[in-house]
Amino acid sequence: MVKEQLREVQAHVQEACRRAGRNPDEVTLIAVSKTKPVSMLAEAYEEGARNFGENKVQEILEKSPQLPADVHWHMIGHLQRNKVRQVIDKVVLIHSVDSIRLAEQIEEEAGKKDRTVDILLEVNVAREESKYGFMLEEVEAAILEISRFPHVRIRGLMTIAPFVENSEENRPIFKKLFEFYVDMKCKNIDNVTMDVLSMGMSGDYEVAIEEGATMVRVGTSIFGSRQRLERT
Ligand SMILES: *Cc1c(COP(=O)(O)O)cnc(C)c1O
Repeated sequence: MVKEQLREVQAHVQEACRRAGRNPDEVTLIAVSKTKPVSMLAEAYEEGARNFGENKVQEILEKSPQLPADVHWHMIGHLQRNKVRQVIDKVVLIHSVDSIRLAEQIEEEAGKKDRTVDILLEVNVAREESKYGFMLEEVEAAILEISRFPHVRIRGLMTIAPFVENSEENRPIFKKLFEFYVDMKCKNIDNVTMDVLSMGMSGDYEVAIEEGATMVRVGTSIFGSRQRLERT
């Protein structure tokens, strides 16, 4: 099941790239495996998946030793400051930095370990009250402040678009964040690479790719629906 569904998603990613005239190498598919058993992740791994997304630190700590070491783990969920220390060694990228205080905590813990941690700033483009993230108008100031942290590198931006019936409804959201991303990239801020734009989930990843996503985070379409309700 997982293998077929993963292949289908991979094919859709390729087609969306073709439609948009983009090189498929520019787009990383992150298999969002939260709540799913390691056996299902192993199936996806056998089919070529190397990037897995989780939204809980505990799940990353439990699952990562059970999968091969070449797996890249992505922290995509709201991160509490007291969990930063445990997770920074385990993940290649934290997508969900939603406050300056969290970035400060990452800076502090990364400094102690004398390493640099790659992050994305989460942007609440649709201004949904239920969601974490910076408002679009706050992001530039946040980037300028965090760019001074020597042990944190801002790689780009992430958004969770609203849940909609028709993925076209989210196209303006993706367009807006892409435009802002390009603006920020053009500013060539020190320590800010702006080469990652993480947007698009099961319902709308094709539209997100057409609008410039470089990472899509797909769970349900690969692993099936989740039982437990979880906050995103
Ligand atoms: C759960 C989750 C996803 C994947 O959602 P699906 O709709 O199952 O593809 C993507 N991003 C974040 C931040 C999530 O929490």
